[in-house]
Amino acid sequence: MEQNASETNSIRVGDLDFPPRKVWMKTYGCQMNYHDSERMLSHLEKLNFTATDDQGEADLVLFNTCAIRDLANQKFYSHLGETKPLIQKKDVIVAAAGCIAQTEGKDLIKKYKQLNFAFGTDVIDNIGEMVYRAYAGDKPFSVTTWDRSENYSIETKITHGSPQAFVNIIKGCDKFCSYCIVPFTRGREKSRRLDEVVKDVKRLVEFSGIQEVTLLGQNVNSYGKDNGESLAQLLGELDKIEGLELVRYTTSHPYDVSDELVAAHGTLKKLANHLHLPVQSGSNTVLQRMLREYSVEHYLGLIEKMRQANPQMVITSDIIAGFPNETEEEHQATLELLKKAKFDFVYAYAYSARKGTKAARGEDVLTDDIRGRRLREVMDVQEDVQAEVRKGMEGKTYRMLVVEKGSFKGETKWTGRTSCNRLVHFTPSDETDYLWHWVDVEVLTTTAFSCQGKLVADFGKNNGRA
Ligand code: SF4
Repeated sequence: MEQNASETNSIRVGDLDFPPRKVWMKTYGCQMNYHDSERMLSHLEKLNFTATDDQGEADLVLFNTCAIRDLANQKFYSHLGETKPLIQKKDVIVAAAGCIAQTEGKDLIKKYKQLNFAFGTDVIDNIGEMVYRAYAGDKPFSVTTWDRSENYSIETKITHGSPQAFVNIIKGCDKFCSYCIVPFTRGREKSRRLDEVVKDVKRLVEFSGIQEVTLLGQNVNSYGKDNGESLAQLLGELDKIEGLELVRYTTSHPYDVSDELVAAHGTLKKLANHLHLPVQSGSNTVLQRMLREYSVEHYLGLIEKMRQANPQMVITSDIIAGFPNETEEEHQATLELLKKAKFDFVYAYAYSARKGTKAARGEDVLTDDIRGRRLREVMDVQEDVQAEVRKGMEGKTYRMLVVEKGSFKGETKWTGRTSCNRLVHFTPSDETDYLWHWVDVEVLTTTAFSCQGKLVADFGKNNGRA
C-alpha cells in the first residue's frame, strides 16, 4: 500500500485518508500472543494508530484471543459483549484475532454483530489490509487462511523502549497432545532459518538497544528440524553477539530436549539459568493418555542432566490437575513428582476440555469439585517445595536486570529478574532511577512467592559497557 503524509497529519493509503486514531487492544493467553499483539501494533502505527489504555477513546478495539483454557474463552466473550454500548456511542471498528478467531472466525462474525472482522494466527501481518477493508466499508468478514509458503520468514517488530525483546523462531506444533488445541489454531511447525534469526537479533542489539531476548515457539526445542538446524546451534550463534547479555527460550517439550541442548546449558555464557519444562503429570498412565511421548523417569533424568550440566539451573513447570478419568493414585503420583523434581515454580491448572481435541471426546468421571480439590493439593505441595527451594537463595548474590519500580506496604522497591527467572525486590538507598540497570543483589529473605534483597553493585544500563 502506497503511503503519503498530508498536511493534516493524516496518512494517505490507497484511496483512503487515515487521520490519527487510537487502538485499544486486549491480549489473552501466552507470550506468543503478547508478542503477536506487539507485531500488530507496529503494523497499525503505519496506518496512524497509537495505543490507548482507555477503551472509551478507541477508534479500533482489537481482541487477541486465546483458546487454551475455557477461562480465557469466557473472558473474551464477556469483554466482547461489553463493547456494545461503546459502538452505540461512536463509530468504532471491532476486530478479533488469535486462536479463537482462527477456529471460529466465521461463527464469531455471524453471532456477534458488533464485530467488523475476525482473523487467524497466520495472517496477523496482514492486519493493515484488513483494517483498510473495514474503513473502506466492507461487510463483516473473516480471514483464517494458513500461510502455505515453505519458509517462515519475518522481522521482529519492537514498539516499546525496553531492552528486552521476544523473537519468534518457530511457529505451530506437530505434537498433538490429546488435550491441546494449539496444533489446530497455530498449524504445523515451521522454523525461521538460523541465519535470519541471528541477523534479526544482531539488528535488535545494534539499532534498538536490546540486551535480552526470549526466543518463542509453541514447541521451541523442535526449532530447525524442518531445515536441518537446531536450537542448540542457534543458541551457540547468539552467544557470540556482542552487546547481547541474556538469552531465554520458551516453551519446551521434554521429548525434544537433545543432549546438545543440555550441553549448551553448561557452556554458553549468555544462556539463562532457567528452563521452563512442562511435565503436566507425575503419572505414566496419564502421560500416555495425554500423548506426551515421555515417561516420568525420562523427565526426572532430563532435569537431573540439566542440573549436572549447569548447577545454577532453575526448572519451572506446568501441571494439569484432574485430567479426564485421572484416578486418586495417578493424582498422588503427581504430588510425589513435585516433591522429587523440586521445581522453582509451577503453573497449575484444572483440566478444561477443548472442543475438537481427543481428550474432550469420551466419558469423564471427574467432577469440578474433584478437580478443584486436586488443584489445591497440587498448589499446596508445590508451595512447600517452593519455600524450601527459595530458602536456598538466601545469602547468595544474583546479577539481574531491573524491570520495575513499585510500592510494597508503603515502601519504594525496585524489582529485577535474575537469569534464573526469579523476581527479586530491593529497597533503594538513594534516588537513582534503576530502571533497566544491571545490578547485583544479595538475597536476604525469601518466602515461597517473594525474594527480598539488598543492592550490592550497580552496573548501569548497559551492564558496565560504554
Ligand atoms: S507440545 Fe504444547 S503446544 Fe504442542 S500440542 Fe502439546 S501442549 Fe500443545
